[in-house]
Amino acid sequence: MSEAHASAPASVTLQPASPLDELRSPAFQRLLQQCIHCGLCLQACPTYSVFGSEADSPRGRIALVSAASTGRIELNGVFREHIDLCLGCRACETACPSGVQYGLILEGAQTTLQRARIPGRLERFIRWLALRQFLPHTNRLRLMARLLRVYQRLGLQRLVRSLGILPSPLRVMEGLLPPLPASYRDYRQPAPAVGQKRGQVAFFYGCVQEAFLASINEATIRVLQRNGYEVHFPLDQTCCGAASLHLGETDGAHALARRNIDAFERYEAEHGAFLAIINNAGGCGAALKEYARELAADPDYAEKAARFSARVLDISEFLAGHLHHPPQGVLRRRVTYADSCHLRHAQKVVRQPRDLLRLIPGLELVELERPDRCCGSAGVYNILQPQTAQAVLAEKMADIARTGAGVVVATNTGCHFQLLSGARQSASPLQVVHLVELLDESYRLAEEQ
Ligand code: SF4
Ligand code: SF4
Repeated sequence: MSEAHASAPASVTLQPASPLDELRSPAFQRLLQQCIHCGLCLQACPTYSVFGSEADSPRGRIALVSAASTGRIELNGVFREHIDLCLGCRACETACPSGVQYGLILEGAQTTLQRARIPGRLERFIRWLALRQFLPHTNRLRLMARLLRVYQRLGLQRLVRSLGILPSPLRVMEGLLPPLPASYRDYRQPAPAVGQKRGQVAFFYGCVQEAFLASINEATIRVLQRNGYEVHFPLDQTCCGAASLHLGETDGAHALARRNIDAFERYEAEHGAFLAIINNAGGCGAALKEYARELAADPDYAEKAARFSARVLDISEFLAGHLHHPPQGVLRRRVTYADSCHLRHAQKVVRQPRDLLRLIPGLELVELERPDRCCGSAGVYNILQPQTAQAVLAEKMADIARTGAGVVVATNTGCHFQLLSGARQSASPLQVVHLVELLDESYRLAEEQ
């Protein structure tokens, strides 16, 4: 969470009586007035790059939100169209010299749009299914991933893809599927430290991350163990709520935040204090760090949320200060690093993953020309806005290809899926891995020697 977000006015998150009340509130108007219309954010914006139109730039969207808040334009139509096309990548926040908190402005606009309309039956059903029946339940997601693994192993995936029979957006979702895990860790027992124990940490294993990219969680745990940390898994944890926030379902996101705070607090009361709450996905980490702001107006949770968020760290942040055993196995690979927008622009974690990669012997890190650019994943954006997401992905894949790297490092679940899909579409042998997988491999190689 950025400092700026932490100090945001609490009234921004109050529940309004009418859809426009939040946008009209003095606190929200102050957010809008911070924009001095300089346009320095335009070149940082991927949708401005794709469309070249002011309405698809950060400055243009802020002007639209301002016009909607004073009733100069309708909520539906142009306003909805351009807000929906925003990736929420927050590259504009990093570029802005005036400290505009664009993430808060977008969240206010999305929540207002969500409250201002009654979605159709099908959309309500899909939202209910995804946000209430699957994402908060890791076991159900694991079951879904197991079934999809059967689909992959039987060769049905190849057949379905070659026939192209799935309708969009199912086709888009299917195209994002990674190779699925064969088994899952039993999280009922903590993972012990290897060698001298230096402390204990709690691990947020995520929902989609755990079900679909479990090997990254495994690598994260092993790297922590090898550095002397006992890793604990509060079992009552649930989805971080980022997907709900992306879809303007603020109340649902807050309910998930409260459940996570309670789960980690209860667990800690029973098992002793941990040094940090560690996660390995940029989007989840940003959401967890923003609980403090999201629940600032909740008298029962404001303090607890602030305590919780203050202890959330991305795995690269934690390792930057707690890497007691540098990796020693030699990995002779040319690698590039694709920043997760929510790690780079929301959490401001830029240097640590690069420093860790440079510690791996033999590994050559080649920077992208535009490492600050979104890959087009952006939560569920690639499913809801597939054409724009493809255009943004094409720019990213071209940038990766120019580095000549055979491996791209991703540090977020959605980016991982998106880059895998980009590699498959271009029939590229490019490997997509998480930072911890390379560290883990280096440790393993050194141990085998
Ligand atoms: S969040 Fe990303 S896509 Fe949206 S306006 Fe900012 S830079 Fe552009
Ligand atoms: S958001 Fe920031 S960078 Fe963009 S126009 Fe406004 S003040 Fe300038």
